[in-house]
Amino acid sequence: MTDEPTTTQPTSGDDDAAPAASGPFGGLPIDFSADTGAVPLAAAVTPIAFAAEPIGPAGVDGSVSLNGADHGRTKAKVVIVGSGPAGLTAAIYAARADLDPIVLAGSAAGGQLMITSDVENYPGFPDGIQGPDLMAAFRAQAERFGTHIVDVDVERVDFSERPFRLWARGVEYRGDSVIVATGASAIWLGLESETRLRGRGVSACATCDGFFFRDKEIAVVGGGDTALEEATFLTRFATRVHLLHRRDEFRGSKIMVERAAHNPKIEIHVNTAVEEIVGDAHVEGLRLRDTVTGEERTMPAEGLFVAIGHKPDSEVFRDWLEVDEKGYLKVHDHTATRIEGVFVAGDVHDHRYRQAVTAAGDGCRAAIDAERWLEAQAEADATTRTPTEARAAV
Ligand code: NDP
Repeated sequence: MTDEPTTTQPTSGDDDAAPAASGPFGGLPIDFSADTGAVPLAAAVTPIAFAAEPIGPAGVDGSVSLNGADHGRTKAKVVIVGSGPAGLTAAIYAARADLDPIVLAGSAAGGQLMITSDVENYPGFPDGIQGPDLMAAFRAQAERFGTHIVDVDVERVDFSERPFRLWARGVEYRGDSVIVATGASAIWLGLESETRLRGRGVSACATCDGFFFRDKEIAVVGGGDTALEEATFLTRFATRVHLLHRRDEFRGSKIMVERAAHNPKIEIHVNTAVEEIVGDAHVEGLRLRDTVTGEERTMPAEGLFVAIGHKPDSEVFRDWLEVDEKGYLKVHDHTATRIEGVFVAGDVHDHRYRQAVTAAGDGCRAAIDAERWLEAQAEADATTRTPTEARAAV
């Protein structure tokens, strides 16, 4: 993200890759151009009006069958949940392996990159690319190989037997295997000024955006390892980094606290809460409150990195899959879970790297694992059939 997005063109999608009628985001024209200097992210990322999946008559359990050709597929060898870099890379690999994947993309499809302007560290784009453009290209590539993408949120799943069942907007989907790639979202302070200035000096990713704060005075809010790590990382660029923590005791590890405390470019402010971010077009300063005395003061700053934790989007899977104490899904044997046939990719389990490129790599791994598992299942099924069943299956 940056406070000065570069000029970009909407992803055209060449004719091979994205037929006009079914191009990225349902062929809807999306104007991501931002050629007049700073553009608020909220404005740069035009809301996309996804067409609702047509819904047929409700069944006895309230779910809806969409078997008609016009209504799209609801059954697949692989159902992928999530449409960030992990989900869509899994879709590209699964589609090219003839698994005819369905992607349940989420109502806010595209993941965290949809609210990221400049992406300068995704390999293959020497001049950088806008996050939404990158995701549109991922999507077009997945659709080109036959992925069926539905922009709905999964509300409930049943992984008790195969095919696995997933419900979204009243429709039941079935998958012989499932890849969960629902991602994680940064936790924000919840200030109006924070939302307004996101991408104009407010960020939640130092690795992504630190570069844009060269020779600037900035602040990081949080008292965990992420805040300590980001503050230290940002000293590579910034002239001064103010680390703001609401208590006088850090949650982060001792070694990280010591590293930050000994860094001459970091100034630690304990018992300090961010009340408001000051600035119209860009971050200009912060209004701070002493959490002990209640005293308020203003501090000049050109950027604020919010590092108060991430929340994995794992709620609907928690009855079926193992989660750690923070709610991240646990994986075993690479991308597998405790339920055979259910795989996990991206930030919903990975709180260490959290990068688009690592999520994409993870999506590839999950798709390959799902493909191999499905193949092994098919072989096992073939050897356990009676001769009559085997003949019928031919
Ligand atoms: P944490 O949950 O550990 O820390 C969040 C911090 O943000 C806490 O200090 C908390 O304050 C503060 N906070 C939460 N909400 C607010 C708010 N509304 N206003 C102000 N401050 C707030 O999250 P992290 O992302 O730092 O770490 C997540 C996990 O990842 C941890 O287990 C961590 O150890 C690990 N990690 C490891 C790294 C490494 O080993 N290199 C690097 C980064 C993360 P309070 O303390 O008062 O609750």
